[in-house]
Amino acid sequence: MLSKVAEDLVGAIPPKGAVSKRWSMRILLAEDDGMVGEAVAQALRDAAYAIDWVTDGNSAVDAALAEPYDMALLDLGLPGLDGCEVLRRFRQMRHPLPVIILTARDGVDDRIEGLDLGADDYLVKPFEVRELLARMRAVLRRQGSGAAAILSNGAISLDPATYEVTFGAGVSCRLTAREFSLLRALLARPGTILSRMDLERHIYGWNEEVESNAVEFLIHAIRKKIGAAAIRNVRGVGWMVDRPS
Ligand code: CA
Repeated sequence: MLSKVAEDLVGAIPPKGAVSKRWSMRILLAEDDGMVGEAVAQALRDAAYAIDWVTDGNSAVDAALAEPYDMALLDLGLPGLDGCEVLRRFRQMRHPLPVIILTARDGVDDRIEGLDLGADDYLVKPFEVRELLARMRAVLRRQGSGAAAILSNGAISLDPATYEVTFGAGVSCRLTAREFSLLRALLARPGTILSRMDLERHIYGWNEEVESNAVEFLIHAIRKKIGAAAIRNVRGVGWMVDRPS
């Protein structure tokens, strides 16, 4: 069996018969109600979505930092940070994640606050899962292939919809999910050195075991694809990409 890092290093082509996670939509569900969460998670799995379910607001923020989700389904009444605060943090991080609010609160004020904070849609509980799936499809259609604008520092361009990356005048290559997460973290803060621990936080989900040297492996793999000059190593400190010139 290949380790997770080794699988990533093998590249973008999934083995025959296997459905790579990257090709299915990956959804973050933040819902503290066990029955609602179970029902939604099961329905989404049945509809071939990959789903990560968290039950509090801080975990939702951590998960969104760690993984390139295609969409988040966000309960407003969450322990820790409430849903509106989670959404505010997503937007502060300039997180392009599409968000559908799931809420028992049917007050107009809550809906307006959620939409003003950048939610793409909302559903008032109780709802039928069929309606949720239809609204998810509608939001993903509006988003193109379920992702956001191209990230770029002028030299490197990274397409969140396809995981394709281009450096300088070079040809574009496709990154694996973890390579994408790592490069996205660097591109989100060009000119800033990110340490190994910073980067590990971006490439591992909240319940995953961190493998030693994973960051070095991924940096090596990305440089091999797009050229060593794309990512700078600051010895003993970390890595960075250049600020837009
Ligand atoms: Ca709740």
